[in-house]
Amino acid sequence: MDQTDIQTRSLEIFGEEVSSGSNVRQIRFPSSVGYQIRVRVLPYLYGSVYVVPLDASSWVMIDSGCGDADSNADIENGFRTIHDEFDSSFAPEKIRFIFLTHAHFDHFGGVHELNRRTNAKIVVHSFEGRLVDSYNDVANVENSRYTHFLLESGVPSEMVEPILDGFGFRPGRVKSTPVELRLFGGEKIGALQSVYLPGHSSGHLGFLFGGVIFSGDLLLSRTLAQIWPARMTPQTGILNYVRSLLRLKKLACEYERLHGKKLVALPAHEDPVFDIPARVDKALLSMERRNGRLLRLFGEEETPSTLWEILPKMYWSGRPNREFFGLSDIGARTEFFLQLNLLKIANSERLSYGKPAIRYQFSLANTEAAKDAIKKIVSMHLTGDQPDLVQS
Ligand SMILES: [Zn+2]
Ligand SMILES: [Zn+2]
Repeated sequence: MDQTDIQTRSLEIFGEEVSSGSNVRQIRFPSSVGYQIRVRVLPYLYGSVYVVPLDASSWVMIDSGCGDADSNADIENGFRTIHDEFDSSFAPEKIRFIFLTHAHFDHFGGVHELNRRTNAKIVVHSFEGRLVDSYNDVANVENSRYTHFLLESGVPSEMVEPILDGFGFRPGRVKSTPVELRLFGGEKIGALQSVYLPGHSSGHLGFLFGGVIFSGDLLLSRTLAQIWPARMTPQTGILNYVRSLLRLKKLACEYERLHGKKLVALPAHEDPVFDIPARVDKALLSMERRNGRLLRLFGEEETPSTLWEILPKMYWSGRPNREFFGLSDIGARTEFFLQLNLLKIANSERLSYGKPAIRYQFSLANTEAAKDAIKKIVSMHLTGDQPDLVQS
């Protein structure tokens, strides 16, 4: 689906823009209307927060922006536009809950200010509740873990801090806010149903509502979601991410079978996804290609390499936050390759507290054999339903 198709299809779900330059679009659900507010969340990145009706007199907000002044101002402007141009009965004080798709700071950074502004109660997956209500405690531990990960990746020690600052869990970045409800997935609140879709984060949730799923960062319309090494953050890593993509695809297929129309994904960045199964297939293919490319790079190295040495060959770089994302991406892939025995660690005997940089070496005869191995394992574990009991 190209950009023109997306715009045409967008009109089926979004109303016309009411005024040029507005950051609000109306969303037409079968029996109600909601709103998308576009907000600045990182210097180079826009996000969307959504406001949907809970009942006749109250609203639910999905995600909260990053909490910076720009982001808060975009949300405040959005509230004003909803009230002035769409629905004069709307008021921010009528938002009863803020549902978080996940606790990355571009999604939950605004909860403190919004909680103060609206008195809304915060709802998040249980695994990420601590990030919201005890931010600094978690941030200190995460920062220390990621420091070790960067050193283990071969990052020069003087570059660790600027790289961590790019996206890392800097203590003090977000103000802690009490969590009212901790979910596990499957809960129904009003007409919203939570769906547990881990992989991009430990407690990533999607929310089903009136023919759409608010899909957070799991499935984006143009780019692949960020992946992270599972050894750093439980329930992340390649397999959880891929498993959740397939879960979302299955959900979309079931929805279409039951309702005779497609489920639409409204992600937290980029455009709506009107054909979830096709987009998931494309994302899986990109995952496979990137795995193949990374393996090939390891295969081409004359001597065992660190992730820091491989990074510029794999991804365009140059900005510390890009480096953080890039290293996390190849870190996730590399740990998977190690589990599959496609790579081995060449310097395990020389690793020590003062010399943590791991050097990886390709361990199969050729990269084609490696690609086949990954494909087989991924499809065996993920696409085939495994029997509970094997009869002998
Ligand atoms: Zn995220
Ligand atoms: Zn995000």
